[in-house]
Amino acid sequence: MDSGVTLALPGLDLSARGYLVDLDGTLISGGRPLPWTATLLAALAGRFVIVSNDAEHTAAELAAKLAHLVRLDVSQIVLAGECAIRLLARDRPAARVLLLASASLRQLAADLGLGLTDDDPDVVLVGRDRDFSYASIARAARSLHRGADLIVANPDTSHPGPGGEPVPETGALAAAILAAAGHRSYRVIGKPEPALFEDGLVRLGCAAAEALMIGDNPATDGAGAAAAGIRFCDARLFRGDR
Ligand SMILES: [Mg+2]
Repeated sequence: MDSGVTLALPGLDLSARGYLVDLDGTLISGGRPLPWTATLLAALAGRFVIVSNDAEHTAAELAAKLAHLVRLDVSQIVLAGECAIRLLARDRPAARVLLLASASLRQLAADLGLGLTDDDPDVVLVGRDRDFSYASIARAARSLHRGADLIVANPDTSHPGPGGEPVPETGALAAAILAAAGHRSYRVIGKPEPALFEDGLVRLGCAAAEALMIGDNPATDGAGAAAAGIRFCDARLFRGDR
């Protein structure tokens, strides 16, 4: 263990076989690296996957966005939106899907063979759709009323912008749909639910007990890791203000 690294990053245990690392607030903020990001990535020496509730981009897009910071293979990036689509394509390949999501995620779904429709779907899948509108709510609410299942890629209702202002997230879109359609059960893919943690462990090739989750949100990163049997390192400790 490198004692210098340990001193710089309090709470970081470098004895894990593999690391699941949150993105926003842990590696970047407002698109910029945090003061400890280079030190952290050097300490993890490639033994990590990024696990993020991002429900807008594909792994390939995010790898390109982060290329100035770190060279990542797409296999090292686990994102809620892409994970939701891949799980749906695997588990329900014949499903007709109303997909409220970015153009790149819609393309991914089509490439995986999912049938996308605006009319009478089997499943409504909500991602971070910046074109979300009154018509989106109407289509989704009508579909749920007719019996379609609801999948929400990311439960977060907002994330902090560069000035600390709330930036609307996927969960806020889902809340609008549920406000119109009435409360019902639905499946969540993003943290703290288990899907992203399970995917990350598979990619790392290690068991839950051998891994460490590094994140800045105890309610999602921490609680989700604990439920999955993964230890948690609170990245807020890296700031040195707690
Ligand atoms: Mg975070």
